[in-house]
Parts: sequence; structure tokens; C-alpha cells
Amino acid sequence: MKIFEKAPAKINLSLDVLHKRPDGYHEVEMVMTMVDLADRIEMQEMARDTIIISSQAGYIPLDEKNLAFQAARLIKDRYDVKQGVYIHLDKRIPVAAGLAGGSSDAAATLRGLNRLWNLNISNEELQILGAELGSDVPFCVTGGTALATGRGEKLEPISAPPQCWVVLAKPPINVSTSEIYGKLNARGIKQHPSTAGVLSAIRDKQFDRLCDNLGNVLEGVTLDLYPEVRHLKECMQRLGADGVLMSGSGPTVFGLVSKEAKVARIYNGLRGFCKDVYAVRMLT
Ligand code: ATP
Repeated sequence: MKIFEKAPAKINLSLDVLHKRPDGYHEVEMVMTMVDLADRIEMQEMARDTIIISSQAGYIPLDEKNLAFQAARLIKDRYDVKQGVYIHLDKRIPVAAGLAGGSSDAAATLRGLNRLWNLNISNEELQILGAELGSDVPFCVTGGTALATGRGEKLEPISAPPQCWVVLAKPPINVSTSEIYGKLNARGIKQHPSTAGVLSAIRDKQFDRLCDNLGNVLEGVTLDLYPEVRHLKECMQRLGADGVLMSGSGPTVFGLVSKEAKVARIYNGLRGFCKDVYAVRMLT
């Protein structure tokens, strides 16, 4: 039997770091939602007890370093599954972009194998398994829109943000998440984004207020280190996006746009100098 799962990208509408914990993780407060830019994951049962990963994307690991591989191995071990699986990752989400592509692949693999092998694992249990793979995986298991706390694994579902277009652009650079967190620790946090402002704007379905309150405590660090990300953000603002923010530790910058008529101008303006640009809807 063969099944498919979609693995959508996440964006952070707010990302705050409260403090560094004794276990080395950062205590965070994030509002996350998903956009209609997704990897497609094909999972095919194999009688042989093995996990095989393939992908058209030549730049991701296809061995045990791949998060989908790790998800498959975790579920096989915990539920004593003897069958194997062939997993093909049709990558559409740019890699190492701040869009949780790998985490979403892992979450989709957990969901998919739960179906493929009739394991009847609850979403809560899949999220607990997912937390062993990465801090963003539990959110990706259920998606939607949520307030994430702890190291990102404690989730409180919230209502969907006002519907809008999301233009995403990723400059051709690699940003190391640990480097960004390291620099943030070194320089300290002068101003925290308003998580409460984002939550209340979403609750009241106030698009303009949401745009005004978007905030990411990692953004200043990445923008200072990588002028091309700052340039991209400024261009998106100049082209008329209503609210612009960097997602995760970057380097992807997204713009929220309420009027469809503006989307083509922003998309085309960015495509003039940036290859990885996407205009999608929020997944609500
Ligand atoms: P996050 O926003 O959660 O920090 P990201 O979007 O910045 O994640 P990913 O696309 O998940 O980053 O990739 C991060 C690293 O994980 C890459 O360097 C890649 O080699 C590795 N990786 C492992 N599995 C996958 C996968 N299935 N898809 C993409 N990258 C993967």
C-alpha cells in the first residue's frame, strides 16, 4: 500500500525568547501558523524491515540524519513494527530556511505511518513522540495556529489569523540557528515582541493590528549579520506588503498582504533579484 501526506511550512507571527534554561534549551513564546507551501511525502510499505528515503532535492541527507528517517525509526521502535517503508520526499519548502521543512516532514511521516500501519496513535501521543525529534515537530503534527511555549513543544491551539496572502522570500544564504541564538545570548534582549498583541489581534480578527504587532526577537541578530536579509525585508516593505517579518532564525522573510491586487507587484519585484519567492495563502 502507498499513501501520501502533505507537510506544510510554518511561519512565526511572533517569536520571543524568555530565557536560557539550565538544560541548554531556550524558553520561548511563539505564535505559529502554517502556509500553503508544502512538501509531499509518499510512503510505501515494504515487507523488508528497512527504511529507505529518497528525494529529488540533492542537498538534504537521505540517511539517518533525515528527520523523516528518524520519525520512521522512532515509530517502528516504539510500536514494534516489523515492516519497512520507502519514503519519497518531494521537497517544495526551501531547506534551512526558518520554515520548519524538516520538522514538518517528520510530523507528516509520523501521521502517515500511523495510518499506513493502522497504529491508532492519538495526536497527543504523536506530539510527544515528535518532541523527541525536534522542538517544532509537535506543532507540525497538528498544524493550525498555536501559541507554543516551553522549548516550543507546549501548544495551545488558537483561532486562525485573518485570511491573507503570504509572500515568502529566501535569500541564497545559510543561517545557522545555533549561531543566531548564541549571538542573541551574547548581546542580550533589549526589546521583546508583543506576543499578547499578536494573540489579541488574531482573536479580534484585526489584520492591521496583527501586522503592527508582528515581532521576532531573533530578527535583529540575523539582520545585523546578513545585510541581504535586511535588504529583502526593506524591499518587501517598499513594495507594499502590509506586515513583514523574518521567520524562525531566518533567512526567509515573509510579508502579509490583504489585497490580492498587490501580490503580483510584490512577487515580481522580489523575483527581480531573489530566486526563491512564493506567494501562497495562509492555511486556515
Ligand atoms: P527550523 O525552522 O525548524 O529551524 P529550518 O526550516 O530552518 O528549520 P530545515 O529545512 O528543517 O530547516 O533544515 C534544517 C537542516 O535539517 C538542514 O540542514 C538539513 O540538512 C536537515 N534535514 C534533515 N531532514 C530534513 C528534511 N526532511 N528536509 C529538510 N532538511 C532536513
